[in-house]
Amino acid sequence: MTTPLRTCRDGGRLVAMTGWLPRSPEDWDAGVLWQHVGCNHLVCGQCSQPVRAIARAEVADGHTVTAADLRGVDDVFASGRVIASTLGRLYVCDCSIRQVFAPTPADGGYGVDPRVNEPGPWRCAGHPIPSFPLRLDGVRIARPADADEVVRGHLRGELPVASPFQGTALEAVPEAWLLRALAFTDEADWPLRLGAAVARLSDFDDLRQRTLLRAAAMLPAQTVAREALLERCQTWADAGWKASADAAAQASAVATVDALGALATATGGDEAVRLQAAALAQRAWLEGAPCRLLPHQLVALDADWLLEHAAAAAKNRPDAWHRALALTLPSMDTPATDPQAERWWRAAQSVLATVGESPAALQERLGRRAPPWLSAMDPGAEA
Ligand SMILES: [Zn+2]
Ligand SMILES: [Zn+2]
Repeated sequence: MTTPLRTCRDGGRLVAMTGWLPRSPEDWDAGVLWQHVGCNHLVCGQCSQPVRAIARAEVADGHTVTAADLRGVDDVFASGRVIASTLGRLYVCDCSIRQVFAPTPADGGYGVDPRVNEPGPWRCAGHPIPSFPLRLDGVRIARPADADEVVRGHLRGELPVASPFQGTALEAVPEAWLLRALAFTDEADWPLRLGAAVARLSDFDDLRQRTLLRAAAMLPAQTVAREALLERCQTWADAGWKASADAAAQASAVATVDALGALATATGGDEAVRLQAAALAQRAWLEGAPCRLLPHQLVALDADWLLEHAAAAAKNRPDAWHRALALTLPSMDTPATDPQAERWWRAAQSVLATVGESPAALQERLGRRAPPWLSAMDPGAEA
């Protein structure tokens, strides 16, 4: 009997955003986290070899690395030409190599990257569907009914014993493990398990309550939880997003706004609720509400909107005035005359005027991701 396979959306995607990539091909669909994870079972259409992903790595400035340089090499950092990176990830097969800093289709659409010059024709090779008993980060789930105890054990802080997200950006996402578990199999009827846990919300501490709220808010079946979240945010927005200086309250505020952002980009469920959440999430961004993941969620929601409102948001976010620009940057190889680049530059000018900063300050904030033409831009030229 052949194992049924699922294939990644778009034929697979290269992603580097969180640093986390599960090992087993069967362990791949991270559900709503998916866009931050990427395909872990890519195969090359040219050399037919599996594609290896090297997390949190990029080629050092001034160097070029080829697929042959990394073929069969265990410690890719040993040569000094590949260095540790917070956001970067390298993908290599026998004939091709890519480095990515953002979600990229696996089969092409690459810009010119002087540090790696062999883009591969890659595609998702498919993912076996997991079956019971499941093993997930050392947690054994023998049958669907056991999922109840897994949810409770997790909310009590007991499971998993070792987090798979250690050292990655997902460590800061409280509901990440629950969402990962939910996506791992849909046979466990997770919404039912979470619904049962919501009914016992007061059994859990503040952090776990937020974990649960956020996870539940992203599940189509949890209409009640979604509406409760929306109502909580609406009340808070009307009070001007005032958060107490207390660290726990601040963390709770950030988690709540990020949950709102998650709801704004959620699929399935009540579309009217999602649209209300989207409008409120954009308002939260403009009005300087504390957040962590919100700008990334707003890119997914409507990147054009984020760029158009970059200056308005910068006014209320003195420490993150460049954020919307960084997230909507045209790709490296987009020429300055491209309409997208021109639109981005107009928005950048407007942000710089709003916060009283120079193009050099923007270039510094963007670092090596700054487009090459940015340094040549004259802020007065377009007036
Ligand atoms: Zn290849
Ligand atoms: Zn895949």
